[in-house]
Parts: sequence; structure tokens; C-alpha cells
Amino acid sequence: MLSSVDEAIRKAAVLNAIKHDGKADAGAVLGNLLGENPSLKPRARELMPTVQRVVKEVNSTSLTQLTQEASEKWPADLIKEKPEEVRKLSPLPNVEKYQTIVTRVAPNPDFVLHLGNARAAILSHDYAKMYNGKFIVRFEDTDPRLKKAQLQYYDIIREDLKWLGCSWDAEYIQSDRLPIYYKIAETLLSNDAAYICECKPEQWKPLVTAKKPCPDRELGVSIQTQRWQKMVNGGYGEGEAVFRVKTDLSHPNPAVRDWPGFRVVDVIKTPHPRVGSRFRVWPLYNMASGVDDHDLGITHVLRGKEHLTNMARQLFLYRHLGWTYPDAVHFGRLKVEGMNLSKSRMMKALEAGEYMGVDDPRLGTLAALRRRGFQPEAIRQLMWEIGPKPVDVTISWDNINAINRKLIDPTSHRYYFVPDPIRADVSGVEADMEVHQPLHPQFPEMGTRTLNLKARNGRSKLLLSGSDRTTLASGETVRLMGLFNIQSVSLNGGELNAKRVGESASGVDLPILQWVPAEDKTSVSIVLPDASNANGFAEIGLRREAVDSVVQFVRFGFCRVDEVSYDKVTLYFAHN
Ligand SMILES: [Zn+2]
Repeated sequence: MLSSVDEAIRKAAVLNAIKHDGKADAGAVLGNLLGENPSLKPRARELMPTVQRVVKEVNSTSLTQLTQEASEKWPADLIKEKPEEVRKLSPLPNVEKYQTIVTRVAPNPDFVLHLGNARAAILSHDYAKMYNGKFIVRFEDTDPRLKKAQLQYYDIIREDLKWLGCSWDAEYIQSDRLPIYYKIAETLLSNDAAYICECKPEQWKPLVTAKKPCPDRELGVSIQTQRWQKMVNGGYGEGEAVFRVKTDLSHPNPAVRDWPGFRVVDVIKTPHPRVGSRFRVWPLYNMASGVDDHDLGITHVLRGKEHLTNMARQLFLYRHLGWTYPDAVHFGRLKVEGMNLSKSRMMKALEAGEYMGVDDPRLGTLAALRRRGFQPEAIRQLMWEIGPKPVDVTISWDNINAINRKLIDPTSHRYYFVPDPIRADVSGVEADMEVHQPLHPQFPEMGTRTLNLKARNGRSKLLLSGSDRTTLASGETVRLMGLFNIQSVSLNGGELNAKRVGESASGVDLPILQWVPAEDKTSVSIVLPDASNANGFAEIGLRREAVDSVVQFVRFGFCRVDEVSYDKVTLYFAHN
């Protein structure tokens, strides 16, 4: 009687934990227990301490293990996930001002996209869609020196955006648009709204700090126009002249005062990957970006708050040209716990050979997440959850993993994988056994997989996980999933001698272990998030999985199939 109450509590706790991402709630568990077993109602108060103890136990067990336990013991009760409620993005400001909402994402093709970039891309795309507007992709590649574009990244970024589901209505590449920026430069110069500054940095700095004009500022329109021609025609070397936009020299932020709009680049030394050395004068970020936002009819700019100073600079440009600045939404920084999303740091480490490539599992790039089996929908849900908030947000991997788990769990086939295997020789197996296990315990309609266990002279060989060494060494009885129970006779290094001791799965506290038939298996190598490998064996059926499919290795975690070669399956670990 007592053990059946214990089992009912365990069941209620495990099912509640599965429903709530691994965290059961004692009150809810007691409620469910009494709902299922009304005869226990008079004992509610007395049962609570036991419920609390079991809930604590259950909450410290991995979700994968709990799901496995439930699928072995109470398959009919496993509750299918409820569909997510539809989330909404907060409305954009001033939409009524515009006939069509136009947003843009403006990547620099000097690297691939990472999680931080995904926020601007997804929000800009989804807002455009929400308002039946237009979404533009603009490659910002006007820095041939320090943030030099690389040809392969244009395509990888396009792939990244497509993967994210951010299809675009138009695409522009700034290095195609230099004549447009030159025209603006000429307009600004002839309106006396800009000048060509020949000051060396050491002359310029003290002047601008003191809010004083440099000698070039008031030379008059005709000299400025001549200097511009000299700049364009190669009369100045790199660093010898800068095109400056006139601002308020007493602006509180010195970085805004007479900011540089164009500069000379030695394109013989550092040619542009697309247009070579055709242009010597290149617009700086605020010039190119500011002109394009107006020229392409962008109505709403969504970007990080680190751009607030850029906006202050660009407002002077817009005033000079009589343009209206788009509505700008600046969001706070996005940090991911334990991960560096700084592009420059990632690039440096990559160049130093610290990573295997842009999709190294240690990186927060979309390429890396994709390779590990993260779904674009998970990233979208995450970005919607964060939204365009102005406060800084730190997200944990637990958070990202939980969202992804909900998406991949219902479609991931289950398999057994034994890392660092122990070879078990089990007595009491008189005949070959054909074991059928569901590909997914909650969806029997997905079908089954078959594990063929051979018997010879009353014994059978199978492989167990090296991580179960301690359990096996203790000599206690363990259950092999869907098979039978065994007990260790001896364990020497990687060799276990065991005997079959029972068939029933109903023992409450038996550890439940995954296994692989020793003669019917495939080699497996799993690339872990720290780029190390977990090697071992899995059931042979794994070889039928297509590349890119995500599977769940029971008691191990979700992995994406990366390659199926003649003698091995390579996977990337997503999360447990
Ligand atoms: Zn000057």
C-alpha cells in the first residue's frame, strides 16, 4: 500500500516536472495526486512532507531522464506540450505618419551574423511584415581598411538571413553607391555645410576639445570644392585630408563635433574586395548609413543604443539637407551568459586559429547555432520575448535551450548512445531478442526502432555507458531500458560481467540505463559545445537519419546529425 502511494507521488511529481520544463511545484503535485487518487484526500496534510521531498529529488534530475522514466512507467500519461500562446510585438512609434513602413538590416560583410545581429534582423523584418511594409537588406561595406568586407560573407549573411526566415524585398550594397554619396558631398560643400580638413590629428584634437574651429573650416566654398576634387582625383594620400560635416562646435559630446564624413584610403595597398581600387575617397559609417536611410525611404530604424551618438551626428546631416530623420528605436545590449558576442574578438581568435571555423560550437554565430541543431524559430521566439526593450538584457543558455527544446522535442527520434562504453557480458539470455522501442515515446505513430540482441551459450554481449560505471560497480540491480534487469557480478576496467535478474520495470527505484547491442551498432562521435568530442556507439538504426535531422540520445541530450560516413555518424550536441 505504502509503495503504491509513493509511486503515485513520484508519478505526479515527474509528470508535473515534465510539463514545466523540469521544475515541479509541490502544491501542484499534491493537487494532481489528490485529483487522481481522491481516497488520499483525508491524508493530504500528512503527505505534504513526502511530496516536498520527492519534488526536490525530481527537480534535481535532468528533464531527459524524467521523460525517459515517464515513458517507461506511465507512457499513457505523458502529457503532450500545449501550443505556445501567440506573442505580440509592441507597436512601432508614429506608424500613422507613413504610407508604407520600411525597415532595414545593415550588416557589414566582414563577418557572419551572430545572436546579437539576429535581434535587429528579426525585429526589423517582423515589424515590416506586421505593418505590411518593406524590409531591406543593406550591406555596409565602405571600410576597406579596418572593417574590410570579405566576399564570402555576403553570401553567408544572405544564407543566415534566409535561415532566420527574414526574406527581403530589396537588397543594396553600399560599395555600389559611391557616386550617390559623392553627390551629397558636393551638395554639402556648396551649401557651406562641410569642409575638407587638412589638419593632422594632433592639431585637430586640442581644437575640437576646446570647441574651436580649425583653420580649414571657414576657407569658403570655392576652395572647399577644389579640395574635394583634389581628394577624389588622388591629390591627397591616406590621412592627409578628411571631409568634415559642420556641426555645433559646442555640442556636449566632442565625438559629435564636426564629424568626418569621407576619408582617403590607399586602395592600392588595401583594395576593396568588390570594386578594387576604383575609388580613393570612401564615406565613413555615418555618411553612408545616414544618406541611405533617407535615400531608401527607411521609416523605422531598429538598432542598439550604442548608435545613439551616431544619431546625434546624423541629425546634423539631415538638418543640412532638409531631410526628416526616420523614427529610431534603440534597444539595450544583448548579452548571452558565458559567451562573447564581440565580433572583433571572435574574428581575432578565428584568425589566430583558436576556432575550427565560423561555425565552431563555442561561438555565438548563427552558423554555429545552426550546426548544433538550434531552430531558427527558437531564435525568433527569443527575440520576440526580448523585443526592442531599451534596457540591457542577459539571456542564459538555459533560456535558449528551453525554447529550442520545446521545438525539437516533438520531432526528434530517440536512440540509445553509450559514450566511453563498458562491454557487458550478461548471463541468463537463452535466445536472441528483438527489442522494439518507440522512435518517440509520446508519439507511437512515428513508429519503432529495433535492437537485435544476440545470445550465445546463454549469454549476450551489449554495451553500456561509461558514465554509469559507479552505478554498475555498486552491484545494485539496474534496469536496461525496454529489456530486462541485470546485476553486476564483476566489473574490471571496461568489462562488466553481469547476470539477468528480472524482467519487470515496475521497481520504483531501479536506475534505468540505456544500452546498445554489441554486434548491431554504429560508431558515433559527438562534437560538444566546448569543441571536445564524446565518442562511443549507438544503435545501428541511427544510420538511417538524414543529415540535419535532430535526434535525442536518451539520458544524453539532443544532437544534430552532421555527417553519416561508411563507418561513423558524427553529430553536434545541442543541449540536454
Ligand atoms: Zn582642419
